[in-house]
Amino acid sequence: ASPSSTRLDLDGNPIKPLTICMIGAGGFIGSHLCEKLMSETPHKVLALDVYNDKIKHLLEPETLPWNGRIHFHRLNIKSDSRLEGLIKMADLVINLAAICTPADYNTRPLDTIYSNFIDALPVVKYCSETNKRLIHFSTCEVYGKTIGSFLPKDSPLRQDPAYYVLKEDVSPCIFGSIEKQRWSYACAKQLIERLVYAEGAENGLEFTIVRPFNWIGPRMDFIPGIDGPSEGVPRVLACFSNNLLRGEPLKLVDGGESQRTFVYIKDAIEAVLLMIENPARANGHIFNVGNPHNEVTVRQLAEMMIQVYSKVSGDQPPETSTIDVSSKEFYGEGYDDSDKRIPDMTIINQQLGWNPKTSLWDLLESTLTYQHRTYAEAIKKVIAQPIAS
Ligand code: NAD
Ligand code: UDP
Repeated sequence: ASPSSTRLDLDGNPIKPLTICMIGAGGFIGSHLCEKLMSETPHKVLALDVYNDKIKHLLEPETLPWNGRIHFHRLNIKSDSRLEGLIKMADLVINLAAICTPADYNTRPLDTIYSNFIDALPVVKYCSETNKRLIHFSTCEVYGKTIGSFLPKDSPLRQDPAYYVLKEDVSPCIFGSIEKQRWSYACAKQLIERLVYAEGAENGLEFTIVRPFNWIGPRMDFIPGIDGPSEGVPRVLACFSNNLLRGEPLKLVDGGESQRTFVYIKDAIEAVLLMIENPARANGHIFNVGNPHNEVTVRQLAEMMIQVYSKVSGDQPPETSTIDVSSKEFYGEGYDDSDKRIPDMTIINQQLGWNPKTSLWDLLESTLTYQHRTYAEAIKKVIAQPIAS
């Protein structure tokens, strides 16, 4: 639909144009959400972030068709008095801001806890006080480990979905001990979810909580040494992309046995748009957003990415394609892992009729085509440079 034609919600009612205060709009998910809102809806976005590199193409030049519907405000929500005023100007607040890379959870636990809990508190408070609807981004990691992971390795019950499928309103949240600082993130996210939920129950806050299950696609994180720190450790898609671009073996942490389900960012953004435009169906709910059909072990992901990258780049796969590393070596002390993450889709199906469409192969093909086009030349130049002594 073009932005000018009247858009209808799932119940056939016209959707009125909204002003959305999007916090963390300059990140991976924010950039895709801004793109969708600009190209397909009439909504306005107040885009808040400390960075805007990933949404620059939406802000400049001023002749873009959506000129005037997106405004960037460079601010750090930790310490900026403009936040309250920007929330007041909006009909809806979407909070994406967070430290959300696992390499930080055990090495910078204080920053992780402050970012995911303390810094989100004023946002929840202002929304509650000024009766603004809030869509808060949590994580599938709040589920922690599956119940099945505590069963003996050979137990047939491990094959029973009752022991591993993650359901919003039923599954417990199972984290490791305090020394396993990996769980600082999940724990902070769980507490902010509980606070949002309690604001809804006690003070009538209209809220929706989103639990993303490994959304991946173009613009995710950074490539170390190119558009991010050379010692930085991004999430797995960018780690493996970086290895492929440099012709290095892909590193499998603790054997690459953990399982994940990956969903294409463009599918997931459709779900977020349905939440934005169907408040009556989305308010008061926690939604899993993932693709239960795209499950692989990390080792299988690596093997698939090697094949896909060879296809899109035309390069031969490297001889040694993967190597094993211990989590202690790769992430340091205090790392731990989620064993398996399959989202139950009942609630999102029922409320919003949403289903993911893109297979893992297809989403890797479009994402690695983007990575190759964006970074291959820059990497060649860096590799060709003599190392400074
Ligand atoms: P991202 O790091 O790309 O985006 C987060 C953005 O928030 C960044 O642009 C960052 O600059 C901004 N930000 C952080 N702290 C800020 C502050 N104090 N003030 C202003 N801006 C600040 O991450 P993403 O993948 O887009 O994730 C967005 C949200 O979704 C996060 O809350 C994350 O926990 C959640 N999430 C994402 C995934 C996924 O699969 N991508 C999975 C689970 C949860
Ligand atoms: N991982 C890996 N090699 C890497 C990066 C990550 O084996 O170079 C593993 C990591 O240990 C985890 C999985 O890949 O089991 C997914 O990691 P990611 O950082 O994407 O985030 P998570 O899904 O754990 O939140």
